[in-house]
Amino acid sequence: MSLEGVESRLLIDGELTEASGSRVYDNINPATEEVAGEAADASLEDADRAIAAARRAFDETGWSRDLDLRKKCLQQLHEALVANREVLRPQIIAEVGAPLGLTYAVQQDTCIDDMLWDIGVAVDFAWERDLPENEFFGIKSRRVVVHEPVGVVAAITPWNFPFMLNLAKIVPALMAGNTVVLKAAPDTPWSATFIGKLVAENTDLPAGALNILTAFHPAEVGDALTGDPRVDMVSFTGSTAVGKHIAKRGADNVKKVFLELGGKSAHIVLDDADFAAALPGAAIGVCTHAGQGCAIPTRLLLPRSRYDEGIEQMAENMRGMKYGDPTNVENLMGPLISAKQRDRVLAYIEKGKAEGARLVVGGGRPAHLEKGFFVEPTLFADVDPDSTIAQEEIFGPVLSVIPYDDEDDAVRIANHSRYGLSGAVSSGSLDRAMAVARRIRTGTLSVNGGMWFAADTPFGGYKESGTGREHGLEGFVEYLETKTIAYPA
Ligand code: NAD
Repeated sequence: MSLEGVESRLLIDGELTEASGSRVYDNINPATEEVAGEAADASLEDADRAIAAARRAFDETGWSRDLDLRKKCLQQLHEALVANREVLRPQIIAEVGAPLGLTYAVQQDTCIDDMLWDIGVAVDFAWERDLPENEFFGIKSRRVVVHEPVGVVAAITPWNFPFMLNLAKIVPALMAGNTVVLKAAPDTPWSATFIGKLVAENTDLPAGALNILTAFHPAEVGDALTGDPRVDMVSFTGSTAVGKHIAKRGADNVKKVFLELGGKSAHIVLDDADFAAALPGAAIGVCTHAGQGCAIPTRLLLPRSRYDEGIEQMAENMRGMKYGDPTNVENLMGPLISAKQRDRVLAYIEKGKAEGARLVVGGGRPAHLEKGFFVEPTLFADVDPDSTIAQEEIFGPVLSVIPYDDEDDAVRIANHSRYGLSGAVSSGSLDRAMAVARRIRTGTLSVNGGMWFAADTPFGGYKESGTGREHGLEGFVEYLETKTIAYPA
């Protein structure tokens, strides 16, 4: 696949522009370890200009009050993305290491299609509602509840599903009437700057309504965005550590902070489950995009009564996983995003061994792949629920199997986590699985292989997995303020 049509310039105040001082950095292909091209390295000066432009577009243009214009502009962007799918696809594969098959789904095409739902939800939204007449202090009043945009939104996204997450933030935020400064992850700049190119060249979006920054040192530009009083809201997806930092910075001027953070989800396989139906999905889940997904169930809870049978089947499933070159559509799993992430995952594997877990499959770098930041599909059995690999997010293709005694024990272990993002339950009885699912403290749950991911599904976490919801009606409402106006009846 050739890399044509790459756009690496920033979008600031309606202009595609180089970073100040023409600063650039290398965008590395994680499957080949080679330089795929250049990315713009925004400075504090660029961040300042982007915030000023977003502020001006919000305060001084009619954008926030013109739903028809917003619909038109976002539809123009949708059309441009549809027309450019095959230009973008190789870029996403090259910078993310995303397997080709995933680009036909959630890494690219699904989220382009989902834009229409996001546009529609704003168009159909009940922006105002009347409350019944009331009397207070002798004054009879009528009241109207009005929904309005929050203002300037700083959207900050990670590298694992960058294009999807960029759209998941900018489309509802813009449709709600906000203006946006998007800061992409340093490892995946083009998934953002390509959107900037299409916005500049194909839409009537007013200058400053959307600004796009990429930067090599994320904390510099990131801190500038999250600490700036001209920014009204931060919409962040990333690690819990950075999320906590952002929440503290936002507190200084009481910003609205919306956080989608890490996860350590559990898949409970009940003793009456059909293992042949449930377990292949558990292996595919943890190997999809090399385990670099926040909602992937990375803890597998098996009943002691059928434990050996389960481990044997899981070992077979993990050994049969196809992985390698992400441009080969047969590969489910490509590389990790960087040498740093690969080394972090390998360090967790060593920690797992040192803390007494039994390594059943994998555990290292694949001998047959000389280049690329690959890690073998890895299966640990006999994992202590308190150990590091059962508690911390590894973000690699590493599955920790934990035995449990009975249903209550399984629920207790599943909930024994500082995270609460997602999970799964498998059982021969739908009623039994649903009852267990209701006891798990997470934002989404899959029962017997059900798929919750969709544009209309609110997604987000309990506990340290975040605050607020992305996607769905709830996701749209995150980008709104609520105002009540009263007048004499
Ligand atoms: P990260 O927290 O390191 O980085 C996320 C983003 O924050 C990047 O754009 C990064 O440049 C930026 N950033 C770093 N320091 C910053 C600062 N001081 N101020 C502002 N921004 C800053 O996360 P990552 O390693 O890119 O992504 C992996 C993490 O993202 C995992 O923990 C994963 O679970 C999480 N994630 C969560 C969801 C979800 O919806 N809950 C989805 C995808 C990924």
